[in-house]
Amino acid sequence: MKCAGKIDVRDVDESSINIDPIQAGGRLTPEAMKAVIAYGDGYSVCDQCRKPFRLDQIRTPPVDIFHRELAAFVNMDVARVVPGARRGFQAVADTYVQKGDPVLITALSHYTEVLSIEANGGIIREIPKDENNIITADAAAAKIEEVQREFSRPIPLLFIDHFDYQYGNRHQVQEIIRVARQYDIPVLYNGAYTVGILPVDGKELGADFVVGSGHKSMAAPAPSGVLATSSERAAEVFRTTAARADVTGRTFGVKEVGLMGCTLMGVTLIGMMASFPRVQERVKHWDKELSNGNVVVEALRSIQGTKIQSEYPRNHTLTRVDTIGSFDKVAQSHKKRGFFFSNSLKDRGITGIIPGATKVWKYNTYGLTQKQAKYLASSLIEVAEENGIPVNR
Ligand SMILES: *Cc1c(COP(=O)(O)O)cnc(C)c1O
Repeated sequence: MKCAGKIDVRDVDESSINIDPIQAGGRLTPEAMKAVIAYGDGYSVCDQCRKPFRLDQIRTPPVDIFHRELAAFVNMDVARVVPGARRGFQAVADTYVQKGDPVLITALSHYTEVLSIEANGGIIREIPKDENNIITADAAAAKIEEVQREFSRPIPLLFIDHFDYQYGNRHQVQEIIRVARQYDIPVLYNGAYTVGILPVDGKELGADFVVGSGHKSMAAPAPSGVLATSSERAAEVFRTTAARADVTGRTFGVKEVGLMGCTLMGVTLIGMMASFPRVQERVKHWDKELSNGNVVVEALRSIQGTKIQSEYPRNHTLTRVDTIGSFDKVAQSHKKRGFFFSNSLKDRGITGIIPGATKVWKYNTYGLTQKQAKYLASSLIEVAEENGIPVNR
């Protein structure tokens, strides 16, 4: 079946259990699906845009209220929607990072943080991870000291990912922010894997900026996300235009320079808004997500030669696993090579693992029901046993 021309219908999330790490938290709610169809046209949220002509002030649909609720959701003062977490990083880096400034990220930071710094001529300095792949406050303090000795200028920004995208490990965010505060370094909390799936309290963490991803963790279409700030930082990051054009003498009202005026003007915003009530509710059930995740982790651990590379016990549903001693051994002599594994799962209605991967791979159980988690767990064990890999039952 085709949508149009050569574009296939996509039914991955209707027809399968999808454990793709980056897709689990962004899967749309039924409410969002309906809303995006109605708001698919360009600039659709602008029907009732009135003075002062800015996205966050639109009252019908209630975009203004949504902005206030978004700020409250992460316990910050002001929030704006942005086209992806990366555009949140960009707005912040554009405001604070100048050519030659040292900017701190971590050894497990996402590449989009790097790009936002690079675009402004900043110099990347990484806080190393420890032997358990955790970013600690001690490592942050040591790195800040080192960078201060190396550079004769202040560090304008530190990025910290609460859970990283590689291991899904939890890092010492609150403690790192406390350390950064002692050196007067503003901190951007990267909640790409938290905002929208577990409770986030920006004030309690002490963050200057909280960034979330709509399409990764808030059941919203891409590209969408949130940038929330303290009121003090809002005046800087969300500064309004002061330009006056020379020939016409035009000025440009209250448009925010760092956001290029308005950001999400149609499906993306409406999708975020339509999913939001469910997202607000679902963050309260993170414990259930973790227990479902554990069912799968324990199944993998029971397959001889399999190692959980992420921290254990797990604090997140995104997990990295090493099956070099199990499924990869089978792949060496299997006629389908590594594809035997993804194909066997596919035959059981499970998708989202990179086809052919049998060495080190990631999956995310976020959003699975307990029944689906148990089915996934028993499927992994079945595939192991079918191929002669011993399982410790
Ligand atoms: C996915 C991800 C991003 C990028 O998010 P977008 O919303 O796609 O821009 C940034 N940081 C981390 C840690 C991520 O996992």
